[in-house]
Amino acid sequence: MRPNKQEIIDMLSVRGEGELNALFARAYEVKKKYVGTTVYFRGLIEISNICSKNCYYCGIRSENPNFPRYSISMDEALQEAKWAFDQRYGSLVIQAGERIDTQWTDFIAELVRKIKEMSSGKLGITLSLGEQTEETYQKWFDAGAHRYLLRVETTNRELYKKLHPADHRFEDRLLSLERLRKVGYQTGTGVMVGLPGQSIEDIADDILFFYDQDVDMLGMGPYIPHQDTPLNHLVEAFDPTEAFTLGLKLIAACRIALKDVNIAASTALQALHPQGRERGLLAGANVLMPNITDTKYREGYQLYEGKPGINENAAQVVQELQRSIESIGETVGFDQWGDPKHFFRRQGQ
Ligand code: SAH
Ligand code: SF4
Repeated sequence: MRPNKQEIIDMLSVRGEGELNALFARAYEVKKKYVGTTVYFRGLIEISNICSKNCYYCGIRSENPNFPRYSISMDEALQEAKWAFDQRYGSLVIQAGERIDTQWTDFIAELVRKIKEMSSGKLGITLSLGEQTEETYQKWFDAGAHRYLLRVETTNRELYKKLHPADHRFEDRLLSLERLRKVGYQTGTGVMVGLPGQSIEDIADDILFFYDQDVDMLGMGPYIPHQDTPLNHLVEAFDPTEAFTLGLKLIAACRIALKDVNIAASTALQALHPQGRERGLLAGANVLMPNITDTKYREGYQLYEGKPGINENAAQVVQELQRSIESIGETVGFDQWGDPKHFFRRQGQ
């Protein structure tokens, strides 16, 4: 049943510790019932910060000259993937700025093929590489990727226009989502919350959009202003506690409204609170994306201010994360893809 908009607005408007905890507890019950309490890890490789786009909120947009650009080599990326495989991660996310040139799209296809080969087909691969042609999506799918994340950022068209240059079109984002589904990907989208000029009603519309689009996965998070962007005037007044709470409310409302989708507790939550990810799980998320990119590249991938640069490519960190997940009564789905249950329901399986 299509969720009720007023009910979503009410959930997103909850204030005060008691009411917030009641909302998170309700979302947790829905999570237990529909997807269970197994957490799936996706090892995140931020493979390049080169981007041809210029989204006004993003620290690695093309017009920010204040840091060097990098691309991780095939061998290094394969090493990182192998490390995740050895740690028994079920899947990887390969993310980067947007590039559509053939040299890049071929490189990604080759990398996907090699990761599949290295892991005897066992590592699941999610890509998050922006808007592409159907041919490119097909090429990467044929190479072995089976999930794709492309946030729409906001479904308020006016707001989308304000946050992007004129040639970044919301309709193109939608078209890309359509292409992904046509090719056969498990498709994820998402938005940022706390954007300047965004209302609670806008966010409720975002959640209804996820429902109407029948999405399988959600990667969403609070917007965090960045100094080297046209929106840098927002840095000073930014309130991390408020942004964090809104991020958690968003997860809870999505879990209650959409039930069987996969929801990631975003890195941005972790940036705002040391226990951000665990709190995200308790509000309804069921996927974590530990960053396994070599730490020497982390400075270069600052989408927002204060992005955590901690080293998660150490076996000890995996153990600590596992312990902290077990301490909240959940288990880690090692060696499992953890595909969204929603995808199979959508396929009628
Ligand atoms: N270039 C690809 C993937 C990398 S960006 C793409 O844009 O799809 C991944 C996500 O980072 C974006 O979708 C956006 O939602 C998020 N992001 C960018 N700047 C941010 C900021 N300042 N605060 C929070 N999230 C941000
Ligand atoms: Fe590039 Fe993605 Fe950042 Fe936009 S959000 S500037 S497409 S990396």
